[in-house]
Amino acid sequence: MSGLQGKVALVTGASRGIGRGIALRLAQDGAIVAVHYANNKEAAEEVVREIQSNGGIAFAIGADLRDSDGVDAMFAEFDAAMKVLIGINPLDILVNNAGVGQALSIEETTEQSLNEVMSIHVNAPILIVQQALSRLRNNGRIINISSSATRIAMPSLLGYSVSKGAVNTLTHVLAQHLGDRKITVNAILPGIIDTDMNVATLQSQEGREFAAGLSAFGRWGQPDDVADIASFLSSSDSRWVTGQLIDASGGSRL
Ligand code: NDP
Repeated sequence: MSGLQGKVALVTGASRGIGRGIALRLAQDGAIVAVHYANNKEAAEEVVREIQSNGGIAFAIGADLRDSDGVDAMFAEFDAAMKVLIGINPLDILVNNAGVGQALSIEETTEQSLNEVMSIHVNAPILIVQQALSRLRNNGRIINISSSATRIAMPSLLGYSVSKGAVNTLTHVLAQHLGDRKITVNAILPGIIDTDMNVATLQSQEGREFAAGLSAFGRWGQPDDVADIASFLSSSDSRWVTGQLIDASGGSRL
């Protein structure tokens, strides 16, 4: 896929893992990419350098997205960097990817742990879309990174799964709301992907067998497996696809 020349993308949580893969891919497709991070500035700057060394355009913006001050700070940095780059601050592709792993069952869940996953996975995307709307051009794209744990019951991921269920609903509702601007809103639902979030699972033989055994293809996923789908959803080829939950689990538990 290519053809994102002239487009501007903002990928949250792009310093590592799936977000990094999506940022690299959208830049390869021709978009200017805002590479967001929370704390890991050096990793985000490394992603920017990789994009630039391949002839692309990118910049890093840092903000903790657990509250609205962080969302305000992220857009202030985005606007400032875009004004330096091209004098205006439009946005075409928003990828709500930033997230945290949280392995807690119903018995282990606390008010604090719930607030943590809900603030990053639910509140932040809503507040980010609110601010993105005045910047998003018609025919834009919103891609929310959800999880296949919304389809496959994972009792050890109670709060995490519930928060991603809200992401699915957000996707559905926003797709209806933004259709008149020809902005598509879709969610990608990854299965187990080889990122920092799964270090604990993938470091043991038992964990690796579990992860590979879930998928019809007998392997766990890589960030590229998700980034390629994000590339399609960002492209004009996906113009007739909106409000959809796209499974990216390699056919886990079909
Ligand atoms: P990683 O742990 O590799 O990266 C997480 C990213 O989110 C980093 O860029 C991190 O920034 C950022 N982040 C973390 N906390 C915050 C915060 N409070 N505010 C802003 N940004 C924050 O995660 P993955 O790549 O594995 O996951 C990406 C998305 O994919 C998440 O939404 C996750 O739930 C989802 N997902 C992942 C799956 C997997 O198997 N890996 C499966 C299904 C869904 P920094 O580097 O600065 O800390």
